[in-house]
Amino acid sequence: MRQPQATRLDSRASEMKTLTASAPLELAPPIARDRPLRDVGRVLVLNATYEPINVCTVRRAAVLLLKEKADMVERSDGELRSEHRVLQRPVVIKLRLYAKVPRDSSKRKITRRAVFARDGWACQYCGTRSNLTVDHVIPRSKGGLSTWENIVSSCAPCNRRKADRLPTQINMHPRKPPRVPGAHVFITVAAQRIPAAWLQWLPAEAA
Ligand SMILES: [Zn+2]
Repeated sequence: MRQPQATRLDSRASEMKTLTASAPLELAPPIARDRPLRDVGRVLVLNATYEPINVCTVRRAAVLLLKEKADMVERSDGELRSEHRVLQRPVVIKLRLYAKVPRDSSKRKITRRAVFARDGWACQYCGTRSNLTVDHVIPRSKGGLSTWENIVSSCAPCNRRKADRLPTQINMHPRKPPRVPGAHVFITVAAQRIPAAWLQWLPAEAA
């Protein structure tokens, strides 16, 4: 049986922890013209094929670079210093070896933020962008499952109005059939805000 991706990433993470423990990296003093830390505090990870697959911390990216498991694609003006090395602060890195990423995003955790991001932060019944909740299209009481295909963003008033009725019973249908989101949705959610330097590496709809 093939090792699941989560385990692969976990083993990589623990390997990184070991390395950072022996060679701590410190952030260089902030440079005034640098962008806010939140923008550069996360690093976009591209697969060996340049496909965006993940977001990681600057520290984790630095370890991958130092261990020559990844190459720098975009950098910022900041510097990272360890005992022996100075590294430019990574913004986008690319793995040297192809990482098997499950195509199946349906296995990824369904969070409210990810559902909202997939749905463009709009109620799928009336389009409002305020007071968002998540709604089971087929209510759980009617056998609806908690899957990407059955959960949509809904404002609280629409959610109350629909209550535990089927879409056909109250004639409330999601504007777009809910689907499993693409990887870029999780990247958007993890990064909170997409740094400009990432945009050329992401699909257009992520921007
Ligand atoms: Zn609504």
